[in-house]
Amino acid sequence: MSNFVDRADPRYGTLKGSRNLRWPRDPQDTASEIALCATAQDAAAALERLVHEGVRPTIRSGGHCYEDFVVNNRNGCILDMSVMKAPEPRAGKGSYAVAPGQMLGEVYEELYKRYNKTLPAGSCYAVGAGGHISGGGYGLLSRLHGLTCDWISAVDILTVDGKGKVALRHTDKSHDADLFRACRGAGGGSFGVITGFYFDELPDAPQEVAEAHVGFEWDKTDEDTFVEILQTFGGYWETRGQDPDTWGLFSIMNMSHASGGHFGFGSQFCNPNGRADDLKVFEEFLGRFEKFTRAEAKIRVNADRQMVQPQPATPPNTDGHGSFDIQKRQWLEATISGSGGGGSGRASYKSSYMKKNFSDQEARCIYRHFTRKVEGIDPRGMVLAVDSYGGAANKRGTAEETSICQRDSVMKLQWENYWRDADQDAARLQLAKEFYADLYSIHVDAAHKGTPYHNERYQGCYINYPDSDMLAYSFWPQLYWGEGELYPFLQDVKRRYDPNNVFHHAMSVRV
Ligand SMILES: Cc1cc2nc3c(=O)[nH]c(=O)nc-3n(C[C@H](O)[C@H](O)[C@H](O)COP(=O)(O)OP(=O)(O)OC[C@H]3O[C@@H](n4cnc5c(N)ncnc54)[C@H](O)[C@@H]3O)c2cc1C
Repeated sequence: MSNFVDRADPRYGTLKGSRNLRWPRDPQDTASEIALCATAQDAAAALERLVHEGVRPTIRSGGHCYEDFVVNNRNGCILDMSVMKAPEPRAGKGSYAVAPGQMLGEVYEELYKRYNKTLPAGSCYAVGAGGHISGGGYGLLSRLHGLTCDWISAVDILTVDGKGKVALRHTDKSHDADLFRACRGAGGGSFGVITGFYFDELPDAPQEVAEAHVGFEWDKTDEDTFVEILQTFGGYWETRGQDPDTWGLFSIMNMSHASGGHFGFGSQFCNPNGRADDLKVFEEFLGRFEKFTRAEAKIRVNADRQMVQPQPATPPNTDGHGSFDIQKRQWLEATISGSGGGGSGRASYKSSYMKKNFSDQEARCIYRHFTRKVEGIDPRGMVLAVDSYGGAANKRGTAEETSICQRDSVMKLQWENYWRDADQDAARLQLAKEFYADLYSIHVDAAHKGTPYHNERYQGCYINYPDSDMLAYSFWPQLYWGEGELYPFLQDVKRRYDPNNVFHHAMSVRV
């Protein structure tokens, strides 16, 4: 039976808390609860009670949501799935099973140790499977093996019908196939409570990976050089990065304000056989940056992706890898060590998909924002992270089978904005808004100005990086789910399986 935690319980304050300290506590919320659900039966019983009493449920697994879709639920109840660490075994439902409450790091460790398999999923240990996989899932192996949701073969989900009856549905391609597709990437919190993900097949885990971190110093980088660096990075993913022999290469360029001193990228590589013995592809990629780098300018990109940390100077490399310091590590260690993501602070996020390399104007706009004078706040807390994309993530047919339509992009961008003090909220949010609006006014038509709306260069935004600023645009669903049949399809699924809109939040699929 679920364990209901109310205000009288000493755990309430902790369990009600959120990672993002930006969400204010609602003073009118005097009766909300948290239901800790360790099994699908716990969650079904809790849900039945809530529906019967007319109390709104929200769902939490890892608690890493970028927006306040879960915590502030006035006098409602959070169904907390983080204690559900083992899914129900299902005969014939897939050889591998993942529970919503498992953290990605736990999933990696278990799949590796028990089966020598892995999921191509996100890079932070503490992100929850429940939200991550239902929103698509993307990580360092996604160019090699696709998105997490591409591999799902069955999903168990609790839904509530028009009469308030709770049902546990075992969905797959032959049972509630429409709901199954919606669970593969449309985003959490729209259709029901997912209690298990099942996979018939999974890729073998790599044995080892090669890594390199390349850095540039802002004070030695003039505008033209910055443009050239960025276009060298983006140009690779648009051209050479499409070739299958490069799909084992993933890279993330982290840029932040020039007053921080450095920017740079971290890369991970393995060959399709899961080894890092042939480094030709990696060396060729790094070689493109040789002319820009100086040995003293190396930096290390924090695996938590929350900051760019200067490292002590490294002497020029003499091991035959040009001037780059390529390190080999065991894959499991590279994947889980230092990949926490469990801390809290104030934060905001934005995203975009790019189908082409940075244009001259885009690169100059980014340079302008990272070198401009900012009064009143320390601008270093804002990072623009440019992830390589494409490869197996763009495999034909996956857009139609899943609910992720962005299958032509070569880079995925994420603005991460971190700070401590509440009195900086307005200025911080404004800084990110101006940057984003400026960048997406260059190559976007008047009707969609200020957004990366679908055109020959852009492919909208990522639902696992939801940004409530996008709600200001009537076309916000198309930004996340595309202009085609997907959003109307998801609305049909919503009408069919959640006709009373029991599961909703600011950016859920509308009935
Ligand atoms: C530090 C950090 C690093 C990240 N790194 C990556 C990355 O490398 N790649 C990537 O693709 N994304 C990444 N993300 C984004 C992440 O995938 C999303 O925030 C994801 O939705 C988090 O899932 P969660 O279960 O932890 O969050 P939660 O806050 O628990 O849930 C997120 C959403 O999913 C819903 N939900 C949760 N559980 C369920 C369930 N069981 N059934 C139905 N709906 C549910 C919630 O209601 C909410 O709407 C990162 C986020 C953070 C904070």
